Amino acid sequence: MVTPERTICEERVLILAPTGRDAALARTALAQAGISCEVCPGVFELCREIGDSAGAALVTAEAVTDGAIDLLHQCVTAAPAWSDLPLLILTAGAGLSQESDALTALGNVTFLERPLGSQTLITAVRAALRARRRQYQIRDLLRRQETAVERLDLLADVANHLLLSDRPEEIVASVFRKIAAHLRLELYLCRLLDESSQTLQLSSHAGLSETEASTWAALPLHESLGVTVARQGKRVIAEEEQLAVDPSLAPVRALGVTAYACFPLEANGRLLGTLSFGLRRRQQWEHEELAILETVCNQVAVAIERRRTESALQELNQALEKRVEERTAQLRESNDQMEAFTYSISHDLRAPLRAIRGFAQALWEDYGPAFDETGREYLRRMAGGAERLDQLIQDLLQYSRLSRSTLTFEPISLDTLLLRVIQQMEPDLRACGARLEMGPLSSILGHGPTLEQVLTNLLSNAIKFMAPGVQPHIRIWSTENLETARLWVEDNGIGIAPGYLQRIFGVFERLHGSDAYPGTGIGLAIVAKGIARMGGTYGVESEPGQGSRFWIELPRWRGEGPS
Ligand code: ADP
Repeated sequence: MVTPERTICEERVLILAPTGRDAALARTALAQAGISCEVCPGVFELCREIGDSAGAALVTAEAVTDGAIDLLHQCVTAAPAWSDLPLLILTAGAGLSQESDALTALGNVTFLERPLGSQTLITAVRAALRARRRQYQIRDLLRRQETAVERLDLLADVANHLLLSDRPEEIVASVFRKIAAHLRLELYLCRLLDESSQTLQLSSHAGLSETEASTWAALPLHESLGVTVARQGKRVIAEEEQLAVDPSLAPVRALGVTAYACFPLEANGRLLGTLSFGLRRRQQWEHEELAILETVCNQVAVAIERRRTESALQELNQALEKRVEERTAQLRESNDQMEAFTYSISHDLRAPLRAIRGFAQALWEDYGPAFDETGREYLRRMAGGAERLDQLIQDLLQYSRLSRSTLTFEPISLDTLLLRVIQQMEPDLRACGARLEMGPLSSILGHGPTLEQVLTNLLSNAIKFMAPGVQPHIRIWSTENLETARLWVEDNGIGIAPGYLQRIFGVFERLHGSDAYPGTGIGLAIVAKGIARMGGTYGVESEPGQGSRFWIELPRWRGEGPS
């Protein structure tokens, strides 16, 4: 801020005329023209006064010795870039002095020849002061620019701080310290609204004694100044005069505050609290200061709201996670119960079934000849039905055992394992005249017996689901990714319609009657469960009439020694 004293200092003309009556005459003439001036006894004092500030300097040529020029030179070069002090040199009248070149180098120099009328002197001085004033304008402009840049930096810094903070309410205090130093603030209060009690709670403050802080700790919204801020959603600015008379500002007055500003902390139209600032040594706010404070308040409000939204989201997430965990546990439990139930039922069913099969066999052997052909056909169907039921129960048992048993993983060479499976299936393969083609096969990490069952199921399906009269042609190979290996089993069978490619991996999902293609509908469910339990994936590519390509993918084994 520019004070009147400062303006006088900046406008004054410094006079250096050590000999004769020049100094006194010049002072009288300038003073009469209303120009403030000051006589300096020597060049040293002149330079000191220039340092303090001056509008122009009037110097007689006799005073400008070599030493004086040096001093003046130092003084001029030490001045800031915007400054070019007008120097008026009174010369002897017989042209320019010898030192004129050195003097001209000082910058803004005007030579005035004697004899000189006072009017000419005044005109020259006024012109010099006008030039100096323009320099001051440039200086002020530069200063304003600097302040604006500093303030922008400050705002960016504050925004950064608030954005990075997990608890914006807490860092408001440190933000205040930054702006307080910059704006010369003496007091600040951050109050947050407690929605349930409708009170403004003091959350952080500076420039308050503990006793003062305790009187501001929690104020009902409707009683405090906050209510004005809240209702109007607008800032309250109170300066010296209003502070003195407004009764609602008594608590603020009691803090020794001479200018007060209270801003709402608002986000999405909701009041979160208020931020108040106070001055104790100045009586008025500068317009720009208020603009900065308002911006800071908006930033604080956004940061608080952001943090609250994040916390609410986090809480919601945690609650959701907890619910998912609970549901998963419930599901796992009911799954376990279901599997245990299936297991025991399947187990218990086998005993009476064995009895049915045994007695059917005995009936056939002991009384077969006594039946006519129809009776024997009934007997055959009875035995066949019992056998299918037994197969179904065995498959179910195997499926539920797969869910219950603990699997230990080992490196497995698919080559070796597949040869073993083929050996076991030799009679079936030979019976249907299947042609087998094997490509390169990788080693994987898995559970041997489960994988053997998976391959058996895939291979037996590959030779089973053939159109009548077609010779099965099966291709088996593997491909590798960085971490996994994929085993393909391709057949030239009847294929699968697109809508069923996923469904067939479920329990009892069959696309054909057991007359056309016998089976229980559990083979692929065992493949799915077994592969999933080994941490792998599975799938099929197929089209009706175009054969099928089943695949399973498991972790690759790249070390030594798979069995
Ligand atoms: P199952 O073989 O006992 O019928 P699966 O679970 O092994 O039961 O197979 C389920 C169904 O998927 C089969 O009934 C069949 O419709 C279809 N499927 C399985 N493998 C093939 C295949 N290679 N080609 C065509 N369809 C197949």
